[in-house]
Amino acid sequence: MGGDLLARAHALDTADPLAAFRDRFVLDEGLVYLDGNSLGRLPRATRDRLRHVVEVEWGEELIRGWDRWIELAREAGDLLATGVLRVRRGTVALADSTTVNLYKLAAAALDARPERRTIVTDDDNFPTDQYVLQGLAAARGIRLRTIASDLDAGVSLPAVREALDDDVALVCLSHVAYRSGAVADLVEITRAVHAAGALVLWDLSHSAGAVPVPLARAQADLAVGCTYKHLNGGPGAPAFLYVRADLQRELRQPIWGWFGQRDQFAMAGTYDPHDGIERFLVGTPPVLGGYAALEGIRITADAGIAAVAAKGRALTGYAIDLHDAWLAPHGFALASPRAATRRGAHVTLHHPRAGQICQALKAAKVIPDFRTPDRLRLGPAPLYTRFVDVYEGLHRLREIMTSGAYTQFPEARSRVT
Ligand SMILES: *Cc1c(COP(=O)(O)O)cnc(C)c1O
Repeated sequence: MGGDLLARAHALDTADPLAAFRDRFVLDEGLVYLDGNSLGRLPRATRDRLRHVVEVEWGEELIRGWDRWIELAREAGDLLATGVLRVRRGTVALADSTTVNLYKLAAAALDARPERRTIVTDDDNFPTDQYVLQGLAAARGIRLRTIASDLDAGVSLPAVREALDDDVALVCLSHVAYRSGAVADLVEITRAVHAAGALVLWDLSHSAGAVPVPLARAQADLAVGCTYKHLNGGPGAPAFLYVRADLQRELRQPIWGWFGQRDQFAMAGTYDPHDGIERFLVGTPPVLGGYAALEGIRITADAGIAAVAAKGRALTGYAIDLHDAWLAPHGFALASPRAATRRGAHVTLHHPRAGQICQALKAAKVIPDFRTPDRLRLGPAPLYTRFVDVYEGLHRLREIMTSGAYTQFPEARSRVT
């Protein structure tokens, strides 16, 4: 059985059209890295680009570098728009953090529907999204309606329909659920939200660079997402925001900063926002992180999102087969959708001792992450993970279960999981 599974991994790696992309990353043989959905690996191009930006652009060009740096939010945004998200140029910008962008776009949407007094989200949405929406609801004295979603299956279209009425201004959901990897029906949910007269804001943190995002087909209104996960932008790299072209002039975001101003360097005393996506910018961007994001985005654009998504589904499908053969007998259960088209690029396993097992795995040089309440999340990022890496990682996991080595680890979780 194990031999068949290993032979299959080798065959899949041999046939992998993305195999060469692995060489574009800094690797450490021996470590099985299954956490590309939390922090992508370092691209070699990023290391070189940052060295140039630091040594030449900052070191020698100094303030003159701003002639180039001022374009970065749009340059990276347009590459992400056309190369990964498949939306029009001028609808995406690199800016701030996902949390801050979510606040800006959610506030702008609420201001555009002032007669409506309800926001809808679900309880499987990422905590920061729920907190931002709670804060907006509290500050404005409006209601936040939270759909109860199944933690493994994600938010459902009927549940969203149920939550809609003519008081709803904004629906904010994640496209790919951070815990289970379940993919929401972005097209049909957007259609239902529009039919109710509301705006929709999608969080793409776990889908950008992992699966195709049908923003254009759905004519979705707004989106935000991270670049440091599947887009390999590096720790704390700036996030992105998307605003559909025909909505841009209608919306105003709440932080009126000088990077959103029409003619920024005219230094006018009164705020007059830019007509385009720049009106959703705020202040001076983190240039180093921005160039890291740009290089990360470029790799995904080069590989093509369809190929990345196909390999992601194959990798997680293979991990599920290993789970069924090796881990289910040790008390694991799949906590992600079994249907490949309903999964993002990570897969989650449930086990009552998942916290301890996660620590034991890290000690065995396999890096997954732990998610509450009792889940082990495996993110075999398609651009640099081989099928044999998934084999090796889950083989070490099986050994930990067989030997009981995980019982040596404390039940309390560490500060960062
Ligand atoms: C990772 C993640 C975030 C993180 O937001 P930051 O502002 O970068 O801390 C937000 N939303 C979702 C869905 C995420 O997965």
